[in-house]
Amino acid sequence: MDKRIENFAKLAVEFGVNVKEGEDVLINTPVESPELARLMAKASYEKGAANVEVDFRDDELTRLNYKHKSSQRLEEVPKWQIEKLQYQIADKKSNRISISSEDPDLLSGLDHEKIAKAIKSRSSQTKDFVKYTMNDIVSWLVISVPNKKWAKKVFPDLGEEEAVEKLWQVILDVSRVSESWEETKNNWQNHLESLDSKAEYLNSHQFDKVHYKSSNGTDLWIGLPKDHIWMSAGSTNAKGDRFIPNIPTEEVFTSPLYNKVDGKLVATKPLVYNGVVIDEFYFIFEDGKVVDFDAKKGKDTLAKMLDSDEGSRYLGEIALVPYDSPISNSNILFYNTLFDENASCHFALGKAYPTTVKGGAEVADEKIREIGLNDSLIHEDFMVGAKDLQISAYKDDREFKIFVDGNWAF
Ligand code: ZN
Ligand code: ZN
Repeated sequence: MDKRIENFAKLAVEFGVNVKEGEDVLINTPVESPELARLMAKASYEKGAANVEVDFRDDELTRLNYKHKSSQRLEEVPKWQIEKLQYQIADKKSNRISISSEDPDLLSGLDHEKIAKAIKSRSSQTKDFVKYTMNDIVSWLVISVPNKKWAKKVFPDLGEEEAVEKLWQVILDVSRVSESWEETKNNWQNHLESLDSKAEYLNSHQFDKVHYKSSNGTDLWIGLPKDHIWMSAGSTNAKGDRFIPNIPTEEVFTSPLYNKVDGKLVATKPLVYNGVVIDEFYFIFEDGKVVDFDAKKGKDTLAKMLDSDEGSRYLGEIALVPYDSPISNSNILFYNTLFDENASCHFALGKAYPTTVKGGAEVADEKIREIGLNDSLIHEDFMVGAKDLQISAYKDDREFKIFVDGNWAF
């Protein structure tokens, strides 16, 4: 497996953020597993990186901070942190790699109102820097490593170490990483081409609206903005270099017309939000807005999420993922959005990616709704894929089949 993990790090650097000579790299990693970050740093320097910076974080300390610090201190972003972001993100335009490794129950039992307020306050103070990734100014990547708690949650019947090993294997499998670097490269070139061809077909038709229907109750109409762009795995940064923001990735996505969403949308997998599991939930949309919802589990947390700000009741992403994909076929519930969203068609509530409309990246946040895109401090994906999901797209009332029985129809 060591060789595969090395290739995973190389994949992150060469295909993920696509590090070029003289560039900076900023890696955020859990302190529990520094090995992957080290391998990424090595691979980055081998590609000619000028500087690699690694920020360590620790879940236990995060929990302690949320528990004991006052709201006031939690909501405060110290000046030095802003200066750090200014230097690394705005000045040095660092390639950003986030190694996520969530403990799905990290924040359970804590005061969620306090946490939500702190996150909201910090996000609004660092909004200028989020723009660099949200608008693809710099290359960025989210990739995951297992941790003991997460692995045990996914594989409760295995011992701690076996569970971690198993989760590593699955992550490498669904990320199309093999023991040979050549093969890994080929896997990704083919995968990218196939996703690109789907996006090209959708873009060439410039559909007006799409319709989702499945037997679980989903029956939803979604308008699409003028000049929308369906994006596939690859994005392009401000320098014109291609990068892949998520590994693994199976989705082709765009943004809905924020005020033209009507009907019922039923989630098909649980969602972990701020450390709380929300399950068996649905939304009713009218003119784009969630006007009713319910959840069997985590309803209070879902309500808080919806009330985050003005835009958090509107959709900001619509993503197509076939029911037959490596992640979906693994039949594993990861309790981790990066994996679960790539196993299933999904939507996101909250902010839309401005790059999904032609010229959108140049439009100011205050005016983004004028081109049909939603704005919010949150962007939360949730899964809606189902075995019998039918998706049709319409152009001047002519119907085109997009998904039949959960899979691509073309
Ligand atoms: Zn997505
Ligand atoms: Zn998303």
